[in-house]
Amino acid sequence: MSEKLKIAIQKSGRLHENSLRLLKECGISFDNGNDHLKIQANNFPLEILFLRNSDIPQYVEDGVADIAIIGQNLIIEKDKKIEEIIKLGFSKCRLSLAVPKNVEYPGLTWFNGRKIATSYPNTLKKFLDKNNIRVEIHEISGSVEIAPNIGLADGICDLVSSGSTLFKNGLKEVEIILESEACLAAKTDVDAKKKILLDKLIFRMKAVLTSRNNKYVLLNAPDKKLDTIKRIIPGIKSPTIMPLAEKGWSSVHSVINENDFWEIIDQLKENGAQGILIIPIEKMIV
Ligand code: AMP
Repeated sequence: MSEKLKIAIQKSGRLHENSLRLLKECGISFDNGNDHLKIQANNFPLEILFLRNSDIPQYVEDGVADIAIIGQNLIIEKDKKIEEIIKLGFSKCRLSLAVPKNVEYPGLTWFNGRKIATSYPNTLKKFLDKNNIRVEIHEISGSVEIAPNIGLADGICDLVSSGSTLFKNGLKEVEIILESEACLAAKTDVDAKKKILLDKLIFRMKAVLTSRNNKYVLLNAPDKKLDTIKRIIPGIKSPTIMPLAEKGWSSVHSVINENDFWEIIDQLKENGAQGILIIPIEKMIV
């Protein structure tokens, strides 16, 4: 049997849907069998293993899987022989310390001699040691945010994205320990044959991720403004410019970054652009 790359993804939870979506957008087709522990892709030498999130780093270190989609926070917490390959842009969050909202928080020293509940004891301990703070760490596996209310701890260390869970539980975020997002991670010593497959997959993922951040733009511009418009939307190499049937006007095609979108549109309008069309890009290879 020819060599297959084995990827571990979360069996259930926040990363599950986005991980499957990314693989599909990379052109990898598979049947989502319910309750399967592993499935084979139909058109790429890939086996997909569905595992419990917190077990994934160990499975990758042991070679049960070669690569995985997990949060950067988990790589740091578990400290196994695995490394981040590319960031995937979803499940953005931060690992933070939070305290009851009525606490007048003077700084990290507030935690000295107190109890902190967390599911991330290693990352927390490293952070506190570095800052010379001595605390009692209570490791719990879920619903960390209720710990102060039930008298289990004085504060918590947990993942936060919008902050609404903290708010609902009468807590406030006081320190950020690290920022995290989902990433593709791999065993530090992937063997050579699998590395070829991994490089193919990385190439596809980068094409999908780049296209998500960019839009194709088409517009009509007065010829006398073309030099300025070329500077506003330089595109990948340079914009395409074609004369319109109407004299003195051209059609300009280019690519713009999602983050600068509205600012660029304003500048284009100020320079006489008309009939601006914005089109999503499916894949982008630069
Ligand atoms: P879970 O689905 O809760 O097991 O979380 C799995 C992973 O999702 C974590 O290891 C984080 O990388 C990420 N994550 C957890 N909590 C959040 C959150 N509040 N916002 C965004 N991502 C999160």
